[in-house]
Amino acid sequence: MKKCDVAVIGSGIVGLATAWQLAQKAPDLKICVLEKEAEVAAHQSSHNSGVIHSGIYYKPGSLKAINCREGWRRLIAFCDTYEVPYELCGKIIVATDEAERPYLHTIYERGQANGLEGIRLISGEEAREFEPHVAAVEAIHVPQAGITSFGRVAKKYAELLQKRGGEVWTGHAVMGFSPSGKRQVVQTTAGDVEARLVINCAGLHADRVAAMAGARPEVQVVPFRGEYYELKPEKEHLVRNLIYPVPNPKFPFLGVHFTRMIEGGIEAGPNAVLAFAREGYHLTDVHPGDLFEALSFPGFWKMLGRFWRESLDELHRSASKRAFVKALQKLVPEVQPDDFVKGRSGVRAQCIDRHGKLVDDFLFVEQPGYVHVLNAPSPAATSSLAIGDKVAGIALEELRNR
Ligand SMILES: Cc1cc2nc3c(=O)[nH]c(=O)nc-3n(C[C@H](O)[C@H](O)[C@H](O)COP(=O)(O)OP(=O)(O)OC[C@H]3O[C@@H](n4cnc5c(N)ncnc54)[C@H](O)[C@@H]3O)c2cc1C
Repeated sequence: MKKCDVAVIGSGIVGLATAWQLAQKAPDLKICVLEKEAEVAAHQSSHNSGVIHSGIYYKPGSLKAINCREGWRRLIAFCDTYEVPYELCGKIIVATDEAERPYLHTIYERGQANGLEGIRLISGEEAREFEPHVAAVEAIHVPQAGITSFGRVAKKYAELLQKRGGEVWTGHAVMGFSPSGKRQVVQTTAGDVEARLVINCAGLHADRVAAMAGARPEVQVVPFRGEYYELKPEKEHLVRNLIYPVPNPKFPFLGVHFTRMIEGGIEAGPNAVLAFAREGYHLTDVHPGDLFEALSFPGFWKMLGRFWRESLDELHRSASKRAFVKALQKLVPEVQPDDFVKGRSGVRAQCIDRHGKLVDDFLFVEQPGYVHVLNAPSPAATSSLAIGDKVAGIALEELRNR
């Protein structure tokens, strides 16, 4: 049987950041990362908007606010040190009508409370100096926002972990656990692995992995697909950098926006459609087991009861390009359906609780022999080094107590 001190489940950006930080803090530990896919960062970590978030949106004092600010600082230093391409191009968040102004101001106040320097409330006219084609009555300019490729960042973490003696075992899908004295035997599709401690960073399957460990999580992962369109090259002049709407305050999602990508091109999206499979990248992807599990969770029905209108609107926008583009025309009125081609999609792992509430903050749960990262949606890619540092700290404490 393969043996290690710490087995990290999931080679997304969070699992790899955690493993690498742990390898730096405790060079004597043997660390392995178990990944079910054939390559690292195959899911959320390579299917996202690639935006380096500033931390403006999040409730002051929340784990998202703290880890996003700290993660931003560490990520920029990391990209500089290891020559990962990024650009701090800045973004604008725009109120397109009077009704959106109060919430725009709330976001601005949060940004100030979160310690963001240089953010400015600007008039519609000033907003058009940054983005000449935008429709805005007022906006916030956020100079700290930027772009990168989180897939590349995650691969760099893997490379650095391996240089420190850590291992990444792809093709190892975790199926269950059994205790062996003070250690855990992790059963995988490629054989058993014995570890002193398990760190669960399984993203879209994190609740299931926690349940396999007997943790009885009070939350369930609900997959929300985010779909993108791409602006045709001849229309790319309509957007310079990043244009965001004022988000719906009831949702933890930011609303469809325009994003310049680090590799070139402009994307529009992502929407947030309830997916019928945990890895349901297309509208027609249905996984009966995933669907049954979702429908059997009481919180799912309560969430639908609360958000049925928004859920239907999102489904409509998913099926109709015209409806999708209508949301984008609020930001840039000149864009037309013909200006876009269908792009890629990603699926967010968003936890809900038994009362149907979308879990708003990051969620880490400790259990003897295990640490579970249960809710790590956006801005977890930006925050990955701060989350990794925190989880590595919890893991070391847990190892000391065992
Ligand atoms: C559409 C979209 C847009 C986003 N935009 C942004 C953005 O602009 N900025 C930002 O900061 N964040 C963004 N995010 C959020 C960010 O991508 C995620 O928060 C982050 O990637 C989560 O990383 P992770 O490691 O937790 O999950 P993942 O990357 O999903 O990794 C989990 C890994 O666990 C593996 N796994 C699962 N089950 C098992 C098992 N049983 N055995 C072995 N391995 C298993 C999976 O294969 C996967 O590789 C976005 C997300 C999406 C979906």
